[in-house]
Amino acid sequence: MKGWWLQRSVRLRLALWYATATALVLIAFAWFVYEVIEHRLAAEIDRQLRIDFDLVEPQLSLDTEGRVDWTIRGSHGDEGFSRLSAWFEVWSEKRELLLRHWPVPESNIKNVLPPPRTSTLSFATVELEHGLFVRVMERPGRVQGRSVIIRVFRDETEMRRTLREIVEVSVLGFPLACALAAIGGYLVATRSLAPLDAMARQARRITSESLSKRLPNLNPSDELGRLATVFNETLTRLEASFSELQRFTADASHELRSPLTALRAVGEVALRDGNDPAMLRETIGSMLEEAERLTDLVDALLTLARMDATKADATREGVNIAKLLEEIRDQFEVLAAEKGQTLAVTSDHNVAVQTDRTLLRLALVNLVHNAIQHSPSNSKVSLATALRPSGVEISVSDSGRGIAPEYHEKIFEPFFRVDKARSRSGGGVGLGLAIAKRAIERSGGRIIVESDLNRGSVFRIELPWSSQLATSPATI
Ligand code: ADP
Repeated sequence: MKGWWLQRSVRLRLALWYATATALVLIAFAWFVYEVIEHRLAAEIDRQLRIDFDLVEPQLSLDTEGRVDWTIRGSHGDEGFSRLSAWFEVWSEKRELLLRHWPVPESNIKNVLPPPRTSTLSFATVELEHGLFVRVMERPGRVQGRSVIIRVFRDETEMRRTLREIVEVSVLGFPLACALAAIGGYLVATRSLAPLDAMARQARRITSESLSKRLPNLNPSDELGRLATVFNETLTRLEASFSELQRFTADASHELRSPLTALRAVGEVALRDGNDPAMLRETIGSMLEEAERLTDLVDALLTLARMDATKADATREGVNIAKLLEEIRDQFEVLAAEKGQTLAVTSDHNVAVQTDRTLLRLALVNLVHNAIQHSPSNSKVSLATALRPSGVEISVSDSGRGIAPEYHEKIFEPFFRVDKARSRSGGGVGLGLAIAKRAIERSGGRIIVESDLNRGSVFRIELPWSSQLATSPATI
């Protein structure tokens, strides 16, 4: 059943739901109406019976032989009652029938009621013959001082007919109402789900070549509209990632081609005119230089690819920042000394961070390398830490030529270099900051740059305090 249900279309399921819900509501409503009306009609009959009793009792009298007699006196209401064919019996306390006044001949009634059993007020419904139901009230009364039991009758046929009509109307109306609900439900569902069909058709047409297409969105404020909006936003993000990927591939191919072209050109020239050993040596030297550049580029690309490919969280370990900065200073000391630069570390020895050491180191190495590369001779490059309420901040400052504000975001994009020609001669391929940014973001932090032309640059790494960081007395 469940399988069958799930295989039906949403339209059909909604239509069936509507029909079922309507049927249930109608049944409950009809039952309620039936109960209320039946109760009201029964109460009305009982009220009439009491009135009948009140009318009959004072009109009864005893004749000279002691027989009970019914005299219609002309007071208000009596004639009406007599016209309505009064229907009653008078019984003695000894259960002898004293008077019977029936609107139908007695012989027509098959099941004449037995004498009353108790002498108290009681109501009952009895079937005198097939289909003839009457409501009976028995009540003790007095006829000129003599105690009697008066039994009054009221025909229930009218009431029963009314109730039967309610049932008939309901039974006839049910299928109609359910069918209307089902058809209405189906039409409403078809109309409401029409945008979904349109969306499905359009979604089928979207491929990697047509990521700029969007789903139709007729009403952005309803549920389907919101779904289309979310889907379209996803498409926008996908499109952006896709074009970024395409740009990256194009840039990477371009960057790989340049050294390869240079290698080939130098090799061809050497082959053609290379009889001089000194010249050949020089050619091999420059070929090795290009090969090294290629290796660096491929290494950087691999690092980026690995960072993007491994989705698992960066591993967290306690990292003593001061120690790490000193380690990096030692690594770059020779390079800085070649340019007459000094590398200074200012850091509190007690600051320990819960983060991925390899990623943090990778980011710092790139930042320090850039600072040295882009700073003039005899200048100073500083590495410092500062504790902030939100976390720890590690800054790498130089007094180089600085970066114009319009490039502050772009420098973190792969292969972007402010001055391509100059950077290339200096060996950069434009991947260092992209790698640093990704490494820090994977550790839950961020990198920002503060710089202006000819003012030097400060690159700040902010690592959040709460999740990854902890300051403890030099335990590491
Ligand atoms: P590259 O390999 O060229 O250094 P990066 O991604 O590390 O690539 O840097 C991108 C660009 O940002 C560099 O080409 C350079 O123009 C600029 N840049 C990065 N760091 C500095 C700095 N400390 N001072 C001035 N410019 C910088």
